[in-house]
Order: sequence, then C-alpha cells, then structure tokens
Amino acid sequence: WKHAPAHFRALLDISRFHGDKVFLVYEDEHITFEEHYRRVAALATRLVEDYGVTKGDRVAVAMRNYPEWVVAFSAALAAGAVAVPLNAWWTEPELAYGVSDSGAKVLIADAERAARLAATGLPLIVARGEAPPGARTFAEVVGEPGPEVRLPDVELSPEDPATIFYTSGTTGHPKGALGSHRNLGQSPMTVAYGLMRAVALAGRDVSEAAGQRRVTLLAVPLFHVTGCFSALTTTMFGGGGLVLMYKWDPAQALRLIERERVTVMIGVPTNAWQLMSHPDFAKHDLSSLNTVGYGGAPAPPKLLERITANLPQRATSNGYGMTETTALAIGNGGPDYLSRPDSIGLPSAVVDVRVVDPAGEELPRGEVGELCVRGPNVIMGYWNKPQATAETFVNGWLHTGDLAKIDEEGFVYIVDRAKDIVIRGGENVYCAEVEAALFEHPAVDDAAVIGVPHDELGEEVGAVVRLAPGSSVTADELRGFLDGRIAKFKIPVHVWFREDELPRNPGGKILKTRLRREILGS
Ligand code: ATP
Ligand code: MG
Repeated sequence: WKHAPAHFRALLDISRFHGDKVFLVYEDEHITFEEHYRRVAALATRLVEDYGVTKGDRVAVAMRNYPEWVVAFSAALAAGAVAVPLNAWWTEPELAYGVSDSGAKVLIADAERAARLAATGLPLIVARGEAPPGARTFAEVVGEPGPEVRLPDVELSPEDPATIFYTSGTTGHPKGALGSHRNLGQSPMTVAYGLMRAVALAGRDVSEAAGQRRVTLLAVPLFHVTGCFSALTTTMFGGGGLVLMYKWDPAQALRLIERERVTVMIGVPTNAWQLMSHPDFAKHDLSSLNTVGYGGAPAPPKLLERITANLPQRATSNGYGMTETTALAIGNGGPDYLSRPDSIGLPSAVVDVRVVDPAGEELPRGEVGELCVRGPNVIMGYWNKPQATAETFVNGWLHTGDLAKIDEEGFVYIVDRAKDIVIRGGENVYCAEVEAALFEHPAVDDAAVIGVPHDELGEEVGAVVRLAPGSSVTADELRGFLDGRIAKFKIPVHVWFREDELPRNPGGKILKTRLRREILGS
C-alpha cells in the first residue's frame, strides 16, 4: 500500500484500476475512471502549485451535480486540503456564511454559484460557463492531462481532517461537520455490509449476486453525505457507474434508468415516491433496476408497499444516517425490511448504538429515548463550534437528537426527532407517527404534522396535507380515517389542504419551520 487504506488517496488509486470503464454519466457525457483520475491529479497539482494549497487548507466546492463536482472534491482531498462542499441551493449570504465559516482559501464553483461567490474576493475556479473577471475556468486550470500526470506528494494519515459537510439545517443553522479520512475511507464498507446481508438473506453469495454491472442513479445532491458517501465513494471503490442529474426530475430519471440500464437508485424517500407517481412511469423499461435505496428522512411504511406493488422483486432499503455519521449508520433492506417496514434496521458492522434517557443513562430494550451512535463513521466534531461539539459528542458517543427504541433482536425504530414532537397537554405526540397514519389514506400524497399553539394545552396537533391529483377528501373524513389507527389525542384538530408541494430541503426533509411560519405566521 502506497497510502493507508482508510484514506481518500487509496480509494482514488483503487478507482484508477477500473481504467476505461465508465465512471460518471452526465447528460451525453460519459467519463471513464482513467479520465477522471487524470483530471483529479491535474487539478490537485494546480491547487498546490498555483494556489499554494497546503495540508489542512480548506477548498470549497459549490456546484450542482456536475462531473466537475467530483473532480473538485477529489482534487481537494488528493492535495491534502479539507474539501468543503457548499449547498448549491444556498443564496449569496448563505454561501458567504459557508465560505467565511470554513475559512476557505480557494473556491471551485459552477457559473451560477460563481456569480453568487464573486463578492468574497477569493480565488475562484469556474466549471461550466463563463468565469467572472479575475477567475479562471476549469478547462484553463485542468487542461487535457496525459497519462503521465501524478498526484502531488502529500503526507496524510487517516486521522487527518478530510471534509466539512454542512448539516441540512432542519433544526437550526447548518453546522459544519468535520470528517476525517478514516470516516470517509470506511464509507463503502457500511454500504457493502448492508448489501451483503441482503444478498445472504436472499440465499446467495457475492459471486452469484454480481451478475450485472452496478449503475447507480443519484437522485440527490452530492453536497450532502448521502450522495457523496452512499453513492460516490461506493461507486469509486466498486467500479460501477454513477449517473448524475443537474437536479431531481422524475421524468428525466425514468428516461435515464432506461437509457443507462440503471440498476440502483439512491435518494430520499420522496424521490422513490415521485418516480412511481409520475404519469410516464409505466411507459419506460425499468427492468434493469434491481435496487431502490433511500434514506436521510422518515420513510412511511406505505412507501415500501407502493414499491412492492409497482416495482416487484426489487431489493428495497431504508438507510438511517446523519451528516455526523458520514451517511449510513443503520440500515434496513431486503427481507428484513419487508417484515419490519417501520424499522430503520440493524446497525452497520462498524457501528454501536444505544438509547439513553435525558441523564445519558442507557435504557432497557423497547424504551424510547435518545439514539446514540459510536463508530469509525462518527465525525471528529463540529467545525468552529466547541460548545455544540461538547454537547453532541459525549464520551465517544454521538447524541443524534432522534428519539428511538431498539427491539430484542436489535432492530432500531425511529420514533421522531426530539425537536419535532408536539407536546399536547403533557402528552407527547410523535409527528412521524401521525404522518405515517395520514399516508395510509389513498388520497394523501404528502403530509406534515406540526404543533399549533394552544392556550390551555400548550400545543394542539395540526396537519398540512397535499392530496394526490384528482383526489378529494374532507378534514372530517381524514379524522374519521385516523380514528382507531392512532389514539384520539393524536388526531389533528387543524387540517390545512395545500396544492403546492410541501417545502423540502435537498435532504428530502420538510422544512417545518418555514411551513409553521407560512401557516401560523410564527
Ligand atoms: P440539522 O442537523 O442541521 O438540523 P439535519 O439533522 O436534517 O439538519 P442531516 O444530517 O442531513 O441534517 O439529517 C440527519 C437526520 O435525518 C437524522 O438525525 C434523522 O432525524 C433524519 N433521518 C435520516 N435518515 C433517516 C431515516 N432513514 N428515517 C428517519 N429519519 C432519518
Ligand atoms: Mg441534525
């Protein structure tokens, strides 16, 4: 080994052996592993020689899912820098926050993001489109590297910082999650473990399972950990193909699955739901698709039911993870998932889990408390946030902020986010439970449950519901449907019907703060 295995450069070296196989697909572009490697080596060399990037410097990447995102991310790491993926949905002030918080030295962006970043005055490399004055284009910097191109020489150890990913900002301001090369290096293992368990449960082994080239369609952004660590690093390691989309579009996803013979789709639960609801769904040949994987947000059991009906015989999996766990930590797939559709499954091979009370004491099996995770996938801490780090990472355990229970066999069930519960007259109402019950109604296409201030009870239960096209149902009918399915005190007193899509962040999570503001003005 030239590089320690738990290290991004080792992953890059392995990926180069895949040579002229197609690695990245974007629209009509098909980029091989060898072409990618050369561009990474060329850009990494320029970062070191032209931009003076040295070990530990931060290099920010702000792009849509272009192949250049992968080059920029990889080159930053190969140069020994800390790669800082910025959320491409962010506005100018939000991007400015990411740049100043991370202390980035160089920015690599697509033209749209470059325009929003120009005011920072930092060195800027622009992939796709025009470069603003003073910036260089990606093509100018990278050129057409030949086979002789080499990675710059940098000494790195697995404990060195590698990435700062920003959390989704669902419960507050996004926090920079500082991950090491070891965190990143183990990511294909957590994914492989889940896959191999599903293969074993299906009575097969690895050789029997590998009949087809793995081609993954990525439905979510690369700037969150699901895209980067459940799809990208795994593809680099395994030599499959990764099909990128500028943004999620179910009609285009259907076309791409057919054209590229996609075998695996990875995204958030909403992606799978929207794919199956699309009017063109039945018009496409989706026979190559053998796995539907999602995670990052609650997946109502109804989703699995719909997949089983619409895409029979597929392996389906629900992965639980956080930015702080370098994507996957706990996963449910194959027969396990079919028999326990409400569980997020078993901890991955490298992960320990436990559920604790507010004092941090471990609770017996079956009791609801805060889920804690420990393992080589748990990040080093929050960048620049010592207090949040001290509160969240306690004696080696990551406190997830999610309420969960673990059954006798070790299966984990997410009950809700601790910050998402409605407390009605002292009784906890788990929004996720009410949402899952609403989803059972055939007319419900999407639903979000929120707490509505109430003088006497503190909070009352409210639901925002989007109906499936052509369906109609009244609030009373919905309440009647829920009666018997969930306890009376959990049934939404307020129901708002909404025609627009519910506001979601790129991680697939409903922006409840925004929804509350829109509906309640608070
Ligand atoms: P922030 O920490 O900034 O408020 P966030 O927690 O949404 O944002 P992420 O790290 O992207 O940022 O998301 C992790 C959270 O997503 C988990 O804590 C959990 O609440 C939720 N989650 C992830 N996977 C699943 C899943 N399979 N089922 C239910 N919830 C999930
Ligand atoms: Mg979080």
